[in-house]
Amino acid sequence: MTGISIARVEVSTYRVPVTTPVMTSFGAMTNRPAVFVRLTDAEGAFGWGEIFANWPAAGAEHRARLLMEDIADLVIGFRAEAASDLFQHLMTTTHIRALQCGEWGPFAQVIAGLDTALHDLFARRKGVSLAFHLNPDAARAVPAYASGIHIGAAHDIVPRVRQLGYRAMKVKIGFHADTDLTLLRALCAGRHDGERLFADANQAWDLRQALRFVAQAGDLGLGWLEEPIRADMPAGHWAELANSSRIKLAAGENITGFDDFDAAIEAGHLGFIQPDVAKWGGITGCHRIGQAIRAGGRTYCPHFLGGGIGLIASGHLLAAVGSDGLLEVDINTNPLRDAFFPDGMCKEGVFAITDAPGLGFDELPESLARYRTLDLVRH
Ligand SMILES: [Mg+2]
Repeated sequence: MTGISIARVEVSTYRVPVTTPVMTSFGAMTNRPAVFVRLTDAEGAFGWGEIFANWPAAGAEHRARLLMEDIADLVIGFRAEAASDLFQHLMTTTHIRALQCGEWGPFAQVIAGLDTALHDLFARRKGVSLAFHLNPDAARAVPAYASGIHIGAAHDIVPRVRQLGYRAMKVKIGFHADTDLTLLRALCAGRHDGERLFADANQAWDLRQALRFVAQAGDLGLGWLEEPIRADMPAGHWAELANSSRIKLAAGENITGFDDFDAAIEAGHLGFIQPDVAKWGGITGCHRIGQAIRAGGRTYCPHFLGGGIGLIASGHLLAAVGSDGLLEVDINTNPLRDAFFPDGMCKEGVFAITDAPGLGFDELPESLARYRTLDLVRH
């Protein structure tokens, strides 16, 4: 296939008020945001991507404006021979702009969304799914786990999640050490045969608190413990914790850059590594890292907790990487994700990869329009 020239960039932001905030150990999400981007080439082919927007609270509209006012000039007219060309181009050409404002994260997130959109566009032009575009031997379905369950609400939510067919679940902890542990113990005791349970502290603890937790919870049979300490704690802290813990450790949603992911794989403290396609790297970065995680003998489990486009892209990535990892599926209500799956996200805990071109949909679900807060176009 010959190269393409990008002719048009569109970005929209969305916000859905929620009655029950999504609680993490570091803060609450009082609405569900999303940023969706669409690229169109000179011949009218198009592709969709999603840009991370969960944090900070005002981040969605900022990222959309950042794309249009500080990055789109580097995108319009760009010729790509391969789907990963835009990522390489933007990581280089936006470096000084990102350095000048210290906004590495927002720049990387916008680039990630654009990279996903360009991969979708290339796969659509070929008439194959994104997973197939990345790997002709990609899986046709990937196993998923139910995520976003507050430990305090698990007694209500877990039975419902079970009814939906999930056999693996992750609870959010890191709120009150003793209560968390008591609730977690009860949850583990009520686990059904074959069920896997994971816990995510969202970086809540210092090393001493984390060591205490793994000593107390080591017998619970947890599949992994996610971000017990800050992602940027010294490698020595992670090593000490990993060496003391019977529970395997997981992290990755707050790791960025090939060098840091390579270092995490090399260090060996993490059993499960979880890059986020909308946060850093897009398809280019996450596919390469997913393969490196697998080659390094670790398990690749994509992190994702946003809208429908990023979830589908994460599923295709996991299918293409072909590891024995699980897809993270947020089970909290979110119309910005649910509208993409009128028949449900998973069946019996399995996420299907369709044969339809690209990410498998052409237009955004009409029901999203009422939640739109911003709509910008450059061409
Ligand atoms: Mg997490």
